[in-house]
Amino acid sequence: MTRLVMKFGGTASAGPERLDACAALIAARQREGAALAVVVSAAAGMTDSLAAEVARADPHGQWPDEGDAVLAAGEQVNAALLAMALRRRGLKARSLSGWQAGILTDGRHGQARITHIEADRLGALIDGGTIAVVTGFQGLGPDGRITTLGRGGSDLSAVALAVALNAEACEICTDVSGILSADPKLVPGAGLITRLSYEEMLEMASQGAKVMQGRAVELAMAEQVALRIRSAFDGPEEEDRHTLVNHSAGLERAVVRAISYSRNEARIMVRDMPSGPGALRTMFAALAQAGIQIDLIVQSPSAQQGKSTLVFSLRRADAAKALDLLSDPCHNQGPCQVQLDEEMAKVSVIGIGLRSQTAMAHTMFTALAEQSIAIGAVATSETRISALIPNQDVEVAVRALHSAFGLDRA
Ligand code: ASP
Ligand code: MG
Repeated sequence: MTRLVMKFGGTASAGPERLDACAALIAARQREGAALAVVVSAAAGMTDSLAAEVARADPHGQWPDEGDAVLAAGEQVNAALLAMALRRRGLKARSLSGWQAGILTDGRHGQARITHIEADRLGALIDGGTIAVVTGFQGLGPDGRITTLGRGGSDLSAVALAVALNAEACEICTDVSGILSADPKLVPGAGLITRLSYEEMLEMASQGAKVMQGRAVELAMAEQVALRIRSAFDGPEEEDRHTLVNHSAGLERAVVRAISYSRNEARIMVRDMPSGPGALRTMFAALAQAGIQIDLIVQSPSAQQGKSTLVFSLRRADAAKALDLLSDPCHNQGPCQVQLDEEMAKVSVIGIGLRSQTAMAHTMFTALAEQSIAIGAVATSETRISALIPNQDVEVAVRALHSAFGLDRA
C-alpha cells in the first residue's frame, strides 16, 4: 500500500472552515487508496502569541524546556481539531503528539534536530486505515522533554516522517497553489511553476523559503523525497495545480524558471586597497569571525598601480557592523576608503544549468541595461545568476527579466 504524508500549514488550517477544507482534501486522498499521515501546524498566529507568553513568563530564557512545552501546544490543539473534522466525515482518524509518533530529537530546545523516528507503530496505524494526524514542529528530547524544531519546523516534521515511513511523496498543502515564476505583487503575469529541482527550490529564497522551511527542503533533497506543493483550498479535482519538487533530470538543458529578489542588501566598496591576497584575507577573516555572511564579490584593479577596488554585498542588517570591522584592517594595509551603500537589492534569475550559459547572462544584462539599471556586482552558480542593483529599481528589474526570459503567461 502506498503511504503519503500530507502537511497543512498554519494559514491553511486556521479556523473551523479551513480545517473542514483540509479534511475534505484528506478524505479525497484516502479514497484514492493512500495510507495517510497528516502533519499539521498551529493555526496562523498561534505560535507567535505563545512565544510572547513565554517571553513574559521567562524573560531571560532560563527555562527553554518549559518554553518548548508552551510553544508546542498550538500544534496539539490543531491536530486534535483536524482529527475531529475527519471524524465528522465518518473517517477513522486520531491525533498524535510528536513523541507519540516516535519523533526523537537532540536536546537543543527551540532548535532541536531530529535524530531518529521510530515509525513502526505509526506505519502500522496508517496501514490499518486510520488517518494519523501528527503535530508538526515538535519531538521528544533525550531527557524525555518536549522539544521544538525551530520556526517553520512543521515542514521538517513532515519531510522526516515521509522518509521514516518510506512515503511515496510529501504533499505540502499551503495557502498558495505552489511556487510562482515571480512575486505576483510585482509581476501580475507570474505563472505556476509545475516542476522544480531541490536546488532551484532552495535558491528561490524570496518565495521558496516563505512557502517551505529551508531545512526541510534540504532533508528532502538528501533523502530524495518528492515534494508536491499545493493549495489546501484547491479542490481535489484541481490535481494539476501544484509544483512538483524532485531530482530534476536534464541538467544539460538550461532552463530559466523564475525571477526572485531580495531587498535587504547592502553594498560595501573598499577603494585603494592593496592588491594581492594579504589584504583580502585579513578583511574577510574579520567578517567571518563576526559571523557576517557576504554574497556577491568583485575585485577590480584601480587606476593606481598596486591598488584595487573591492565591492561585495551583504545583508543590510550586518552592514554597520561590517563597516566598523573593516576600517581597522583596511587602514593597517595603508590608507584606503570604505564606503557603504545600504539601499541595494539583489535580483536573481533561477533555473538549472545556468553557469555554462553565456546567453542567459547576456539576456539578463541586456534586459537590465535597457531599463538603465546599474549593476553593482554579479554572481553565478549552477542554478542562479544574481545581480546587485539599486533598491529603487527592483520592480522594474523583476518585470523586465520576467518578460526577457519568456516567463510572462501568454
Ligand atoms: N507553528 C510553528 C511556527 O509557527 C511551526 C510551523 O508552523 O511550521 O513556526
Ligand atoms: Mg510554514
